[in-house]
Amino acid sequence: MRIVISEFMDRPAVDQLTSRFDVHYDKDLVDRPAELAAQLRDADALIVRNRTQVDAALLSAAPKLRVVGRLGVGLDNLDVDACATRGIAVIPATGANAQAVAEYVIAAAMLLLRGAYFATADVAAGRWPRAALSGGRELAGRTLGLIGFGGIGRLTGRLARVLGMQTIASDPQLPASSPAWTEDATRARTLDELLREADVVSLHVPLAAATRNLMNAQRLATMKPDALLINTSRGGVVDEAALAHALREGRLGGAALDVFEREPLPAASPLTGCPRLLLTPHIAGVTRDSNERVSSLIASKVAAALAAA
Ligand code: NAD
Repeated sequence: MRIVISEFMDRPAVDQLTSRFDVHYDKDLVDRPAELAAQLRDADALIVRNRTQVDAALLSAAPKLRVVGRLGVGLDNLDVDACATRGIAVIPATGANAQAVAEYVIAAAMLLLRGAYFATADVAAGRWPRAALSGGRELAGRTLGLIGFGGIGRLTGRLARVLGMQTIASDPQLPASSPAWTEDATRARTLDELLREADVVSLHVPLAAATRNLMNAQRLATMKPDALLINTSRGGVVDEAALAHALREGRLGGAALDVFEREPLPAASPLTGCPRLLLTPHIAGVTRDSNERVSSLIASKVAAALAAA
C-alpha cells in the first residue's frame, strides 16, 4: 500500500511507515501541485500538515485514497464532508501538540504583561531604562479568559492556575452540565462577560462560519483597556485591521498572534509596526517535542487505519 507525505514529518516516524509501506515523502511536495496530483494517483493514504489543501480537486486526483492523516489538529485545510462522502478516514493528531500551544500562551502572556524583555539592545548599548520598565504586571491573581474550552483551552487553563491565575471560559457548545467546568475549576461566561472580566483573552476555537471575525472591532472594544489578546487558533478569527487600530490607539495592553488571515503575512498588513505586538509564524504548536509526538501518533494511526481498511 502506498502513502504520500506532502509536508514535513519527523524522520523516525517516516521510517516507521517505510518499513511497512511504499512511502513517498517530500516535505516540499505541497508547493508543486501538479506533481502532488500525479503522486496521489495510486495513493492509499495521504499525510499533510496545514498547507496542503485537501479539497475536491485534490481528492479527484486520488481515486484510491482511504486515509488522510493530519499532522496537527485544525481541519480547516481539509474538505471533511467530501472525505466522508468518499468514505475517506480523516485522522488528526488530537492532543499531541496541546502542551506546546499552552506553553506558548503562558509565555506570551508573561512577556507582554511584564513588558521588560525587549530591552536587550538598550541595555547592551549602555542605556538603563529601569524606570520605564518598572511598571510590568504579574500573572498571579489575574484572570485568564479562554474562548473555546476544548483540549488546548483546558490545558492552557491548567498551566495558568498553577501560576496563580483564575480561569473563566466561553464555549457555547459545552453544556453547563459538562464535568469540564468543575474538574478544571473554571467558571462559564458568555462571550461578552468574559471580554469584560479577563486580563488575558486567549482564543482556542476552530475557524468556522460562527467564529470568523469573532474578535471584531466591537468585541475588542469590550475588552479591558489594558487586557491582552492572544490568538493561537486560526487567522480569520481576529479582525486584524481592527486589532491594529486598537493597539495603535492604546486601547489594548498588547497582543500576540501566531496565526493570520493570510500566511505569510502580506507586506501591506495593518499589523506591521504596531506597538505591544508579538508575531510568530504559526509555530505555537510546533516544537521539537511536539513534532515527535505528532508524527509518531499519525504514523501509528495511519498504519492501523490502512491495516483495517
Ligand atoms: P478542540 O476541538 O478540542 O476545542 C475547540 C473548542 O472550541 C470546542 O470545545 C468547541 O466547543 C469550542 N467552540 C466552537 N465554536 C465556539 C465558539 N463560537 N465560541 C466558543 N467556543 C467555541 O480543539 P483544540 O485542539 O483545543 O484546538 C483549538 C484551536 O487551536 C483549533 O483552531 C486549532 O486549529 C488551533 N491550533 C493551533 C495550533 C498552532 O500551532 N497555532 C496548534 C494546534 C491547534
